Parts: sequence; structure tokens; C-alpha cells
Amino acid sequence: MNLNSNTFGFFEEEDLVTCASRAEGTLSMICGFLHEAGHAISAPSTFADLRPSNKRDRVMVAELEYKAWEEGWKLAKRLKITFPELEDQYRKDWMRFWNTYLDALYTQTKRSVIKEIAYNYTPESE
Ligand SMILES: [Zn+2]
Repeated sequence: MNLNSNTFGFFEEEDLVTCASRAEGTLSMICGFLHEAGHAISAPSTFADLRPSNKRDRVMVAELEYKAWEEGWKLAKRLKITFPELEDQYRKDWMRFWNTYLDALYTQTKRSVIKEIAYNYTPESE
């Protein structure tokens, strides 16, 4: 885990979870960390072994971003570190960040960017 990163991120090849040092408050920082840990423990995408295409990459990003939030919260429960304020913040961040991905997938982001994000999940598949 790299706590000095500018952003949250999960880098499978380096086995590294980064966490924004300037995240808005401790709760958001925990939420971001749980989400990235969620990526690390999520099962591979349902679509990972399909032929790479824009469609495949887009559904994969939407699927895996959702899964990471879901798995992150399950992890928090397994670790027994949940409490109401954290759950509130977690669900808010989940909604906010997942929305950002959905917006990017369906409105702004270039094919090459989607491909790069998708590729990060399955470095061995292309
Ligand atoms: Zn993510």
C-alpha cells in the first residue's frame, strides 16, 4: 500500500494498493482502501476470456468496479470494522465513484482509455 499516492488505485502486477493521502477525511480514506482491497480479492470478470472489444471492455469495467465495492464491504464485515458512519460514507463513495465510471464509459472516455482500464484487470488476456 502506498499512502502518498495522489489517487486510489490497484495495481495487480505490483501487488500494490495505493490510497490517496489527501482523501477527504479518514472515513473516505478507509472506504477507498476497502474498495481497492475489493479489487484485489474480486473474482476475475465474467467476460475476461471473451475476445477483446470495446463492448467487452466497457462491461468489464462497469462489472469490476461494482464488484470491488461489493467485495470491499464484505471484507469490512468479515474484519468486523463496520459501523454506521462508515457504512453511510461507503455507500456515498460507492455511488459517487461508480457513477463516475458509468459516465466515463457511456459519455466521455475514449476507446483507448477504456481499453487501458480494462487491460489493467486482465494483463494476461491480450
Ligand atoms: Zn476501482
